[in-house]
Amino acid sequence: MNKPIATMARTNEILEKYDLYAKKNFGQNFIIEPGIVEKIARLSKADEHSAVIEIGPGIGALTEQLAHVAGQVLAFEIDDRLIDVLADTLSACLNVTVVHQDFLEADLNATVSQLKTTWDQVLVCANLPYYITTPILFKIFESKADIPVITVMMQKEVADRFTASVSTKDYNALSVIVQYQYQVQTVMKIPKTIFNPRPAVDSAVVQFTKKQPDRIAGDEALFFAMVKGCFKQRRKTLYNNFREYLQDKEEAMRLLNEAGLEPSLRAETMTLDQFLDLYEVTYETKS
Ligand code: SAM
Repeated sequence: MNKPIATMARTNEILEKYDLYAKKNFGQNFIIEPGIVEKIARLSKADEHSAVIEIGPGIGALTEQLAHVAGQVLAFEIDDRLIDVLADTLSACLNVTVVHQDFLEADLNATVSQLKTTWDQVLVCANLPYYITTPILFKIFESKADIPVITVMMQKEVADRFTASVSTKDYNALSVIVQYQYQVQTVMKIPKTIFNPRPAVDSAVVQFTKKQPDRIAGDEALFFAMVKGCFKQRRKTLYNNFREYLQDKEEAMRLLNEAGLEPSLRAETMTLDQFLDLYEVTYETKS
């Protein structure tokens, strides 16, 4: 029986057999620590009734472990060199389908709806290509696809922004927008030593669990635009950013007063509830 793909010996054997090298422009860093991929697959919340979407299977290290815990794995890989390799390395995993496509081009809503006809839930689990971590996640967040849990590895600095609490240096518009929709948690810290080739930075596995929010914005796109406006220039006060966003000084001051927010505040000290207060007085009490 073959050793797991994520062992250093097996990874080197596969890379040599196919004369493969990691392509930097595709963000390729292969995990060479079987315990880590096993643990990520376990953390994904997948079971035999679930389908898992993986973005960037590489040579199949995590895919193989996901195939052990999930009913089906659908893996999107952009690099044409890897399609034949994956057919070989994952030949024993009959529940894996590899799609040769740029994930950013995929029709995610249709894919998830199709999978939901067979499986109880559809999850996402991946070691993401770091150069497009945010676009990939926002494609998922902004889709209407029913994906209750997303478990993904990313650069530690990016993880810190997603998980940042109010009044910390990493807290920004992205933290607020994501935490509005998801419970966000770092579930594993990953040293750079477990990759081939070794990246310059450490990584973390972040889990996004869909929330049933107590408060929702009627027009989410407008709420997100307002939050981005409030953070536009980090060193400026809330009043200065908000009046620029609204293009109306008096109205900005009036709305801040109505929401009970000090004009001298900075967005980085505002909680999600305070942003929702401001959104409500600005957009929802008008009629
Ligand atoms: N899952 C493997 C592992 O953990 O060892 C490889 C992860 S590697 C960090 C990222 C993978 O994403 C590579 O296989 C790369 O070719 C693939 N990739 C990069 N951009 C992509 C895109 N837009 N759509 C799908 N896959 C992509």
